[in-house]
Amino acid sequence: MGKFKNKLVRFFYGRYGNDTLNTVLLWTYLAFVIISTVLSMTVFSGKAWFDLVRFLVTSFLIVIIFYRMMSRNIAKRSRENERFRGFFTLRKNRFKDRKTHVYRKCKNCRAVLRLPKAKGKHNVVCPRCKNRFKVRG
Ligand SMILES: [Zn+2]
Repeated sequence: MGKFKNKLVRFFYGRYGNDTLNTVLLWTYLAFVIISTVLSMTVFSGKAWFDLVRFLVTSFLIVIIFYRMMSRNIAKRSRENERFRGFFTLRKNRFKDRKTHVYRKCKNCRAVLRLPKAKGKHNVVCPRCKNRFKVRG
């Protein structure tokens, strides 16, 4: 047992492992398996194309999940995870501050600016690229 554990540890050494994005993918996979199984026994019973789609989607998800877990390119996988989390954090904050702030994208550098909500037109200077543009409150 010790030998096997050693081998396992060596196999996973230097590999990326799990993260938020993978956890979400795994739950998506499980939800898809359950829902598609129910559908294939009821609405799409005996439909070959549906089983094919089911097979392709589940295979695709499993490959992605294992590929990301086993990847040795840790920096790239972390970046994917950060981008994924940032997507939801921005939406959450946007909703939370909807009464006090507006979020606008700088057309020049695509940075998202959080601006205090005020009526009328305002001049904004992007803190990242110093681009000037007008924002309607
Ligand atoms: Zn900018």
